[in-house]
Amino acid sequence: MTNDISGLKYLLFNINRPVVCTKCSDEFIEGSTDAKSLQEYTKLDVGFSDRGFQVWCRRHELNVCHFNFDGQKPEVDFRCLEKKDPK
Ligand SMILES: [Zn+2]
Repeated sequence: MTNDISGLKYLLFNINRPVVCTKCSDEFIEGSTDAKSLQEYTKLDVGFSDRGFQVWCRRHELNVCHFNFDGQKPEVDFRCLEKKDPK
């Protein structure tokens, strides 16, 4: 079995333009929370819908974004890579 994961780097953290809830972001920037980071403060649900894929702010109960797949089935990969401690 090979341990070469060079072709799977897209399964690691690659987010360079995060999707954020505007209200969460505003509240965090205003300093009206005691959260250390916006990631810690925001509470997002993500999942598939009949339309496509939705990001929902649980804190504010509002839509953050909703992708329209327009009936297409984009490629998706649910595998995860875990870092293991070398022994
Ligand atoms: Zn929010």
